[in-house]
Amino acid sequence: MGTPPAAAENGNVHGAFIGNRVVMPANGETIPVIDPSNGAVFAHLAQCGQAEVDLAVSLGREALETGEWGRLPAFERGRLLMRLSQAITAHAAELAALESRDTGKPARQAQADITAAARYFEFYAGAADKLHGETIPYLNGFFVATEREPHGVVAHIIPWNYPAQMFGRNVAPSLAVGNAVVVKPAEDACLSVLRMAELAGEVGFPPGALAVLPGRGAVTGALLSGHGDIDYIAFTGSPAVGEMIQVAAARRAIGCTLELGGKSPHILFGDADMALAVPAIVNGIVNNAGQTCSAGSRVLVERAHFDRLVGELAASFSKLRAGTPEMDLDLGPVINGAQHARVERFCAQADRDGIALLAEGSIAAGVPADGLFVTPRLYGPVDPDNVLARDEVFGPVLCVMPFDDEADALRLANDSEFGLLAGVWTRDGARAMRLARRIKAGQIYINGFAAGGGIELPFGGVKRSGHGREKGLAAMHELSTIKTIIQRHG
Ligand code: ADP
Repeated sequence: MGTPPAAAENGNVHGAFIGNRVVMPANGETIPVIDPSNGAVFAHLAQCGQAEVDLAVSLGREALETGEWGRLPAFERGRLLMRLSQAITAHAAELAALESRDTGKPARQAQADITAAARYFEFYAGAADKLHGETIPYLNGFFVATEREPHGVVAHIIPWNYPAQMFGRNVAPSLAVGNAVVVKPAEDACLSVLRMAELAGEVGFPPGALAVLPGRGAVTGALLSGHGDIDYIAFTGSPAVGEMIQVAAARRAIGCTLELGGKSPHILFGDADMALAVPAIVNGIVNNAGQTCSAGSRVLVERAHFDRLVGELAASFSKLRAGTPEMDLDLGPVINGAQHARVERFCAQADRDGIALLAEGSIAAGVPADGLFVTPRLYGPVDPDNVLARDEVFGPVLCVMPFDDEADALRLANDSEFGLLAGVWTRDGARAMRLARRIKAGQIYINGFAAGGGIELPFGGVKRSGHGREKGLAAMHELSTIKTIIQRHG
């Protein structure tokens, strides 16, 4: 099983991974890959076109219908997933270094991401043969059973913020249920994804089970999501592109999952355990330089305790430092020039709107001049209608606003077009539970917060944060469908 891949690079151009080998696109087009820590081009990516999209989808279809992949029993799929988990762990140092170079993440954050990627494959390895159907009482003389079937060929379009984790989060449950998977990673960062796909080939995934097609979203992503022979699309990215994905899916009446970001609130009461709350709230916005869809990016603070609580947050914020992956500080650079400009634009607007800068971290001395670093900033109090309180910055910028009582906190928490996560901080358990039940979001933390954390925990949004659930066993339900078999036996 599994043909050994060709060399990973060809003159430092990273090709696509299709049919268990590295494929250089027919059009010869490439995309430069930039190290965000110093702005230097250090590699090139293949820009996949129609030929590669067609090839990946048709090999996926073949793998399901006539190939080995479609015939493998569930427990054998699980074994392959476990082998891939072990291979990722065995190559953790190499993968973490790639991830840091590609995204600028501090070394420890990249290592944690690779550990999480391996955990995804481990979790779904164990779950692959435990996706049961049910029997349903029906008319006399009939036996009815349901079984879970893969959708078929599934397109996974993933973003640049957590390439390795996104690979695990999407691909592991999709392969576990038996789909053939075609991944379109983000053009800004996907080297760890390409490397893990090679590892999948090495550990024995049959050709066609998994393909990775690097390329620009408007080209490769659009070709893949509009392809006439895919059966489902799982998308993580911006609301604007999510809308296009939903339209592409609607045109062919296929399903899709959309994970589109958020403006997730913390609700901080005066009785909160601040020793727990402060590090979790600060980490929840600076991890990955704030480029996390589930970042907690606005803090609603009980007015009667506003100055004390915000003072503690500010003291912690002012100690934050940005640096290169090797410096391994609190945060690295942001991913690209556009993202850098976006964060600075939000901050300039906040300054123009007269919102006080309550605390600012720093950029470590000695970072390269062309590195895309931004200082972490804490603003407030911010008006709930201000753009900083409503829009996703996708950077290390946190805003605070006061609330009067529980009802006011709930109103402000739900006053958002998004609904992905929320955090509630209080020692009053009944109050926390009342809020958790009424906040409109897919995940609610009480006295804790882990942006995007928890492989086992169903994750996804409501409202403009999208629909469908990833992670946990819920992902396997989302990525499969039910067949009902009705048999008359007289
Ligand atoms: P971000 O703002 O985080 O870069 P995007 O939504 O632009 O989010 O990107 C998420 C993923 O969607 C990436 O893999 C990107 O290449 C892809 N993408 C971007 N535009 C399109 C498109 N028009 N069709 C399909 N995929 C796209």
